[in-house]
Amino acid sequence: MTKRLVFLDFDGVICNSALECLYSATIAYYSKYLKVQVASIPLVFKKNFVHYRPFIRTGEDYVVLADLIDRGIEIHTQEDFDRKLQAYTADKLALFRELFYQTRRELIVHDFPHWMRLNPLYPGVKEPLQEVAKNPAIYILSTKVSDLIHKILQYHGIDWPEERILYSHTISKKEIIGSVLDSKNGAEATFLDDQLDHLRAAMDDSRIFPFLAGWGYVKQEWLEQGKIPVLHIEEFRSFLTEYPLPSVLPTQEGIDTLKET
Ligand SMILES: [Mg+2]
Repeated sequence: MTKRLVFLDFDGVICNSALECLYSATIAYYSKYLKVQVASIPLVFKKNFVHYRPFIRTGEDYVVLADLIDRGIEIHTQEDFDRKLQAYTADKLALFRELFYQTRRELIVHDFPHWMRLNPLYPGVKEPLQEVAKNPAIYILSTKVSDLIHKILQYHGIDWPEERILYSHTISKKEIIGSVLDSKNGAEATFLDDQLDHLRAAMDDSRIFPFLAGWGYVKQEWLEQGKIPVLHIEEFRSFLTEYPLPSVLPTQEGIDTLKET
Protein backbone atom coordinates (compact mmCIF):
# COMPACT_ATOMS: atom_id res chain seq x y z
CA MET A 1 0.00 0.00 0.00
CA THR A 2 1.21 3.50 -0.84
CA LYS A 3 2.61 5.23 2.18
CA ARG A 4 1.00 8.65 2.33
CA LEU A 5 1.97 11.42 4.73
CA VAL A 6 -0.21 14.40 5.60
CA PHE A 7 1.04 17.94 6.30
CA LEU A 8 -1.18 20.59 7.88
CA ASP A 9 -0.47 24.26 8.15
CA PHE A 10 -1.40 25.77 11.53
CA ASP A 11 -2.46 29.45 11.29
CA GLY A 12 -5.45 29.75 8.99
CA VAL A 13 -6.02 25.99 8.93
CA ILE A 14 -6.18 24.81 12.53
CA CYS A 15 -6.01 28.05 14.50
CA ASN A 16 -7.56 31.41 13.76
CA SER A 17 -4.80 33.59 15.15
CA ALA A 18 -5.68 36.78 13.24
CA LEU A 19 -6.55 38.73 16.41
CA GLU A 20 -3.45 37.56 18.25
CA CYS A 21 -1.25 38.61 15.33
CA LEU A 22 -3.04 41.94 15.09
CA TYR A 23 -2.53 42.51 18.82
CA SER A 24 1.14 41.46 18.83
CA ALA A 25 1.94 43.38 15.63
CA THR A 26 0.24 46.54 16.92
CA ILE A 27 2.27 46.53 20.14
CA ALA A 28 5.48 45.62 18.28
CA TYR A 29 5.01 48.37 15.72
CA TYR A 30 3.58 51.27 17.73
CA SER A 31 4.94 50.73 21.25
CA LYS A 32 8.29 49.14 20.49
CA TYR A 33 9.23 50.45 17.04
CA LEU A 34 7.63 53.91 16.84
CA LYS A 35 7.65 54.22 20.64
CA VAL A 36 4.19 55.76 20.78
CA GLN A 37 1.38 54.71 23.09
CA VAL A 38 -1.81 53.31 21.64
CA ALA A 39 -4.84 53.17 23.90
CA SER A 40 -6.85 51.05 21.48
CA ILE A 41 -6.56 49.67 17.98
CA PRO A 42 -8.44 51.89 15.48
CA LEU A 43 -11.22 50.01 13.72
CA VAL A 44 -9.98 50.93 10.24
CA PHE A 45 -6.51 49.58 11.11
CA LYS A 46 -8.06 46.32 12.29
CA LYS A 47 -10.23 46.05 9.17
CA ASN A 48 -7.28 46.60 6.84
CA PHE A 49 -5.09 44.20 8.80
CA VAL A 50 -7.61 41.37 8.48
CA HIS A 51 -8.23 42.24 4.82
CA TYR A 52 -4.53 42.03 3.94
CA ARG A 53 -3.80 39.03 6.21
CA PRO A 54 -3.74 36.48 3.32
CA PHE A 55 -0.50 38.04 1.97
CA ILE A 56 1.46 37.31 5.16
CA ARG A 57 4.00 34.50 5.28
CA THR A 58 6.24 35.15 8.30
CA GLY A 59 6.32 36.93 11.67
CA GLU A 60 8.13 40.03 10.39
CA ASP A 61 5.51 40.38 7.62
CA TYR A 62 2.91 41.29 10.27
CA VAL A 63 4.94 44.30 11.37
CA VAL A 64 5.57 45.28 7.73
CA LEU A 65 1.81 45.12 7.25
CA ALA A 66 1.24 47.35 10.27
CA ASP A 67 3.75 49.84 8.83
CA LEU A 68 2.12 49.83 5.37
CA ILE A 69 -1.36 50.32 6.83
CA ASP A 70 -0.16 53.09 9.14
CA ARG A 71 1.33 54.92 6.16
CA GLY A 72 -1.91 54.51 4.20
CA ILE A 73 -0.37 52.32 1.50
CA GLU A 74 -2.80 50.14 -0.40
CA ILE A 75 -2.06 46.54 -1.34
CA HIS A 76 -3.96 44.74 -4.06
CA THR A 77 -2.17 41.48 -4.80
CA GLN A 78 0.47 39.15 -3.37
CA GLU A 79 2.97 40.50 -5.93
CA ASP A 80 2.12 43.99 -4.77
CA PHE A 81 2.84 43.08 -1.15
CA ASP A 82 6.06 41.28 -2.11
CA ARG A 83 7.30 44.32 -4.05
CA LYS A 84 6.67 46.53 -1.02
CA LEU A 85 8.38 43.98 1.20
CA GLN A 86 11.52 44.23 -0.97
CA ALA A 87 11.80 47.92 -0.15
CA TYR A 88 12.66 47.03 3.47
CA THR A 89 16.31 46.38 4.30
CA ALA A 90 17.34 43.04 5.78
CA ASP A 91 18.23 44.85 9.00
CA LYS A 92 14.79 46.43 9.24
CA LEU A 93 13.09 43.08 8.64
CA ALA A 94 15.29 41.42 11.26
CA LEU A 95 14.34 44.16 13.72
CA PHE A 96 10.61 43.75 12.91
CA ARG A 97 10.95 40.03 13.39
CA GLU A 98 12.68 40.45 16.73
CA LEU A 99 10.10 42.97 17.97
CA PHE A 100 7.17 40.80 16.89
CA TYR A 101 8.42 37.65 18.60
CA GLN A 102 9.62 39.56 21.66
CA THR A 103 6.13 41.07 22.06
CA ARG A 104 4.52 37.67 21.70
CA ARG A 105 6.83 36.12 24.31
CA GLU A 106 6.08 38.96 26.74
CA LEU A 107 2.33 38.58 26.25
CA ILE A 108 2.59 34.85 26.91
CA VAL A 109 4.54 35.42 30.12
CA HIS A 110 2.47 38.33 31.46
CA ASP A 111 -0.99 37.57 30.16
CA PHE A 112 -1.14 33.90 29.19
CA PRO A 113 -4.94 33.36 29.50
CA HIS A 114 -5.66 36.44 27.38
CA TRP A 115 -3.09 35.42 24.80
CA MET A 116 -4.61 31.96 24.56
CA ARG A 117 -8.09 33.38 24.14
CA LEU A 118 -6.79 35.26 21.09
CA ASN A 119 -5.88 31.89 19.52
CA PRO A 120 -9.16 30.01 19.02
CA LEU A 121 -9.32 26.87 16.90
CA TYR A 122 -11.63 26.80 13.88
CA PRO A 123 -14.94 25.10 14.69
CA GLY A 124 -14.85 21.41 13.82
CA VAL A 125 -11.06 20.84 13.79
CA LYS A 126 -10.54 19.88 17.43
CA GLU A 127 -12.11 16.41 17.49
CA PRO A 128 -10.56 15.20 14.20
CA LEU A 129 -7.14 16.36 15.46
CA GLN A 130 -7.62 14.54 18.77
CA GLU A 131 -8.50 11.39 16.83
CA VAL A 132 -5.34 11.45 14.71
CA ALA A 133 -2.93 12.90 17.29
CA LYS A 134 -1.15 9.55 17.62
CA ASN A 135 -0.98 8.86 13.87
CA PRO A 136 2.73 9.06 12.93
CA ALA A 137 1.89 9.89 9.29
CA ILE A 138 0.31 13.25 10.11
CA TYR A 139 2.45 16.36 10.68
CA ILE A 140 1.83 20.01 11.42
CA LEU A 141 4.08 22.26 9.31
CA SER A 142 4.15 25.96 10.08
CA THR A 143 6.16 29.17 10.03
CA LYS A 144 5.12 29.54 13.70
CA VAL A 145 7.59 28.05 16.17
CA SER A 146 6.77 24.51 17.30
CA ASP A 147 6.62 25.09 21.04
CA LEU A 148 3.93 27.78 20.69
CA ILE A 149 1.82 25.51 18.51
CA HIS A 150 2.29 22.73 21.04
CA LYS A 151 1.15 25.06 23.85
CA ILE A 152 -1.94 26.24 21.93
CA LEU A 153 -2.97 22.68 21.08
CA GLN A 154 -2.45 21.60 24.69
CA TYR A 155 -4.56 24.50 25.90
CA HIS A 156 -7.37 23.25 23.66
CA GLY A 157 -7.04 19.68 24.91
CA ILE A 158 -5.11 18.23 21.97
CA ASP A 159 -2.11 16.16 23.00
CA TRP A 160 -0.07 16.42 19.80
CA PRO A 161 3.58 15.26 20.00
CA GLU A 162 5.98 18.16 19.51
CA GLU A 163 8.25 16.09 17.27
CA ARG A 164 5.48 16.07 14.65
CA ILE A 165 5.22 19.86 14.64
CA LEU A 166 7.71 21.08 12.06
CA TYR A 167 8.95 24.67 11.88
CA SER A 168 9.56 26.19 8.47
CA HIS A 169 11.64 29.31 8.68
CA THR A 170 14.65 29.43 6.40
CA ILE A 171 13.79 26.13 4.69
CA SER A 172 10.72 26.08 2.46
CA LYS A 173 7.68 23.94 3.23
CA LYS A 174 8.25 22.08 -0.04
CA GLU A 175 11.79 21.11 0.97
CA ILE A 176 10.70 20.04 4.45
CA ILE A 177 7.93 17.83 3.08
CA GLY A 178 10.39 16.37 0.55
CA SER A 179 12.95 15.53 3.21
CA VAL A 180 10.35 13.93 5.52
CA LEU A 181 9.10 11.83 2.60
CA ASP A 182 12.69 10.71 1.98
CA SER A 183 13.48 9.92 5.59
CA LYS A 184 10.18 8.13 6.32
CA ASN A 185 10.03 6.27 3.00
CA GLY A 186 6.80 8.01 2.13
CA ALA A 187 5.57 7.72 -1.45
CA GLU A 188 3.37 10.81 -1.49
CA ALA A 189 2.11 13.65 0.66
CA THR A 190 -1.07 15.67 0.87
CA PHE A 191 -0.44 19.23 1.98
CA LEU A 192 -3.15 21.52 3.34
CA ASP A 193 -2.34 25.23 3.61
CA ASP A 194 -4.12 28.55 3.21
CA GLN A 195 -1.18 30.39 1.58
CA LEU A 196 -1.33 29.86 -2.17
CA ASP A 197 2.40 30.43 -2.72
CA HIS A 198 3.40 27.61 -0.35
CA LEU A 199 1.06 25.27 -2.25
CA ARG A 200 2.20 26.39 -5.71
CA ALA A 201 5.85 25.96 -4.75
CA ALA A 202 5.16 22.48 -3.34
CA MET A 203 3.68 21.38 -6.67
CA ASP A 204 7.21 21.31 -8.12
CA ASP A 205 7.65 18.05 -6.23
CA SER A 206 5.40 15.56 -8.02
CA ARG A 207 4.96 13.55 -4.81
CA ILE A 208 3.15 16.44 -3.11
CA PHE A 209 -0.60 16.98 -3.62
CA PRO A 210 -1.62 20.48 -2.48
CA PHE A 211 -5.00 21.54 -1.09
CA LEU A 212 -6.16 25.05 -0.24
CA ALA A 213 -7.99 25.44 3.09
CA GLY A 214 -11.04 27.41 1.98
CA TRP A 215 -11.81 28.62 5.51
CA GLY A 216 -8.41 30.23 6.14
CA TYR A 217 -6.95 33.60 5.25
CA VAL A 218 -7.69 33.30 1.56
CA LYS A 219 -8.62 35.73 -1.18
CA GLN A 220 -11.75 35.10 -3.26
CA GLU A 221 -9.61 34.77 -6.40
CA TRP A 222 -7.58 32.00 -4.72
CA LEU A 223 -10.80 30.03 -4.23
CA GLU A 224 -11.56 30.48 -7.90
CA GLN A 225 -8.08 29.75 -9.33
CA GLY A 226 -9.14 26.23 -10.37
CA LYS A 227 -5.70 24.59 -10.24
CA ILE A 228 -5.36 23.66 -6.59
CA PRO A 229 -8.40 21.93 -5.07
CA VAL A 230 -10.16 23.81 -2.31
CA LEU A 231 -11.07 21.91 0.85
CA HIS A 232 -14.17 22.83 2.86
CA ILE A 233 -13.95 22.68 6.63
CA GLU A 234 -16.62 19.92 6.72
CA GLU A 235 -14.15 17.73 4.82
CA PHE A 236 -11.31 18.21 7.30
CA ARG A 237 -11.91 14.91 9.08
CA SER A 238 -12.04 12.98 5.78
CA PHE A 239 -8.89 14.74 4.65
CA LEU A 240 -7.08 13.31 7.68
CA THR A 241 -8.53 9.83 7.56
CA GLU A 242 -9.65 8.97 4.00
CA TYR A 243 -7.91 9.29 0.68
CA PRO A 244 -8.70 9.94 -2.10
CA LEU A 245 -11.48 12.15 -0.88
CA PRO A 246 -14.80 11.43 -2.55
CA SER A 247 -15.63 15.09 -3.05
CA VAL A 248 -12.23 16.60 -3.74
CA LEU A 249 -10.01 15.30 -6.46
CA PRO A 250 -6.97 17.06 -7.89
CA THR A 251 -8.12 19.23 -10.77
CA GLN A 252 -6.85 19.13 -14.32
CA GLU A 253 -6.71 21.85 -16.95
CA GLY A 254 -8.19 24.34 -14.54
CA ILE A 255 -11.51 22.52 -14.22
CA ASP A 256 -12.90 22.79 -10.74
CA THR A 257 -14.21 19.39 -9.73
CA LEU A 258 -15.48 20.45 -6.35
CA LYS A 259 -18.95 19.38 -5.45
CA GLU A 260 -21.13 21.78 -3.50
CA THR A 261 -21.51 20.65 0.07
MG1 LIG B 1 -1.51 29.67 7.10
